[in-house]
Order: sequence, then structure tokens, then C-alpha cells
Amino acid sequence: MRSSVSPVPLTDRFGRVHTDLRVSLTDRCNLRCTYCMPAEGLNWLPRAEVLTDDEVVRLARIAVERLGITSLRLTGGEPLLRRGLPDLIARLSSLTPAPHLSLTTNGIGLARTATALKTAGLDRVNVSLDTLRADRFKDITRRDRLPDVLDGLKAARAAGLNPVKINAVPVRGVNDDEITDLTAFAVDHGYRMRFIESMPLDAQGAWDRDRMITAAEILDRLATRWTLTPAARDNNAPAEEWHLDGTDTTVGVIASVTRPFCGNCDRVRLTADGQLRNCLFATTETDLRTLLRSGADDTRIETAWRTSVSGKGPGHTINTTDFRQPDRPMSAIGG
Ligand code: SAM
Ligand code: SF4
Repeated sequence: MRSSVSPVPLTDRFGRVHTDLRVSLTDRCNLRCTYCMPAEGLNWLPRAEVLTDDEVVRLARIAVERLGITSLRLTGGEPLLRRGLPDLIARLSSLTPAPHLSLTTNGIGLARTATALKTAGLDRVNVSLDTLRADRFKDITRRDRLPDVLDGLKAARAAGLNPVKINAVPVRGVNDDEITDLTAFAVDHGYRMRFIESMPLDAQGAWDRDRMITAAEILDRLATRWTLTPAARDNNAPAEEWHLDGTDTTVGVIASVTRPFCGNCDRVRLTADGQLRNCLFATTETDLRTLLRSGADDTRIETAWRTSVSGKGPGHTINTTDFRQPDRPMSAIGG
């Protein structure tokens, strides 16, 4: 145990300090978003390979106590499918030093769980919502669940998981005509809108650059309704934030493809089966699960973690001919 010792920053050879850990709690999902996975779903991880709560908590403890991780984002797949999530959150929130805890979810089931999650120690939530039209929601996610997501958003706001952010991935010819409507909806309901450029991380390998709506296009569409002024951006946050005139809110644009922010990256990722990834686009992983299950002590795990981060590349290569899509899709890495 080293809780009385200050953490030593998790730094790579480019001087980037890693303070943000994304933890995937499951690769399973109850939606089938077309830009993410096929209609039939994927070959889910066998349950025995998925980290237990004790294992997740142990790795998170090493991360905050030894490596200087200050922020934990729980994701998936769909993290609300994880059984006993409030208990896991309570255990993570009582780590020392206490990390900032957030969750990325499709919102299904959030209406039922938002208060328990907040009480357990969750700070914030991001809810994915690509359309406000029920028929279109069904086409995009292959499930007829729009009302559940809208209820989940309301419940998150009422529970105080603020600011509640909405994530949308605009795709040409699918939902790109809703960029201003989604933003107006967020403004009217007190949510914060963020648009994400679609990335070549779908399970089908069907990403098409021409169908991606670029940050420049998103801003052009927003400018048809609002005057946009650059707003302060959180340190290392991937979203460029813009203030919308006449409102007290901002809209964020995550331009992973056209304006990569790799030079400021502060993230590491843990998959549901305990593989550490130093980049969303990494093609190699470090197997922390085997270390955990073979009795490695904290120092050995810390060393493996640091070795992984020191081997991190300067950035993704999506915009080069060298790009190779990682074997795992976004839903299995943890978005
Ligand atoms: N199921 C949860 C959800 O949808 O919020 C968490 C996991 S999901 C993989 C996390 C985020 O990744 C979502 O906001 C989703 O829209 C986004 N995403 C999925 N596939 C993507 C892709 N190919 N490009 C960009 N974003 C993607
Ligand atoms: Fe599920 Fe999230 Fe992927 Fe949609 S984006 S299929 S909700 S993991």
C-alpha cells in the first residue's frame, strides 16, 4: 500500500502526463448503432475474461495512488449493463485521492439508476443521442428506445449529474440535418451538446471519410443559427468549445480526425478484459489481467503500466496511408 506516498506522474517520452483513465466495464450493448457495430452484435467477451469489481477497483487504486490518475470515466459497450454498478462506483469514489468520476452511456436505464449513481459518488454523465426523431433513432440504433434516452437525460439532470452532456456523431445523409435541432434541444433543456467526428473504429470496418461530418462543417451548420465565440477549453479536453450567443451555454466539437489533439493526450484505457491501451488507435495492448490473476504485486503492475505508456506513439495515423484500424472496435475498447 502506498496511499501515504504522492503519486508519480504517468509520463511518456513526449512529456505528456496521463491523468485520465477510461475504464470499459463491458463490451456488451443493448443498442446496435450503425456506426459502431453490426445488427447481430459481436462475439462478446466470455464472462470469465471480464475483470471483476475487485480487479477493477485494484487497478483503479494503483492508478490513483501510484500513477497520478485523477479522472476515471466508466464506459463500454454499455456500462449501465454492468450488474451492481452503484456499488462499484461507491468503491471507486472512496479511493484516495478521490478521482473525478464520470460515465458515458446510451442513457437506457438511466432514468431508473441516475439517483443511485449520484448517491454512490458519480460526478457527471455523457449521454449519446444522435437524433430527436423516433423513426430515425430506430434506424440508427436498430432499437426503438428514444423515449428511454430522453427520460434518462431528464433523470440525470434531476439527480444533479451536471453538466449533463449529450454526445452525437453526425453522419452525412443520416442525421447531419439535425445539428442545429439537437443543439437547440440541449440549450432549451439545460444540457451541453457535443459533436464527435466519426472515426474508423466501427466493428464492420465500413467507415467512410466522405460520410464523416467534419468539425468545419459542424461549425458552419451551427453558424446558421448562432454566432459562435471560442470559449475556454478544459486543459487537455478533446472538445473545442464554442459559446452560443444569446444562451448561457457552449457547444463542443471533438475533431479527432480533422484536428487531432494527440499532442495533448492525457488518456489511457483499460478494456473490460483488463488490457491496457495507451491510445484509442493502438494496435498493441498490455495484459494487466494476466498479471493480476498470476499474483503480481502493485509494483509489478505499476511498472507494466509505465512501460506501456512510455511506448505510446506521438499520435494516430488516420490521415496517412499507414493507418491500420485496430482489431478491437470502439465498443470493445471503451469509447
Ligand atoms: N454505449 C455508450 C454510449 O454509446 O455512450 C458508451 C460506449 S460508446 C462506444 C462511446 C461513444 O463512442 C458514444 O458517444 C458513441 O457515439 C461513440 N462512438 C461509437 N462509435 C464511434 C465511431 N465510429 N466514431 C466516433 N464515435 C463513435
Ligand atoms: Fe452501443 Fe454505444 Fe456502440 Fe451505440 S455507440 S452500439 S450505444 S456501444
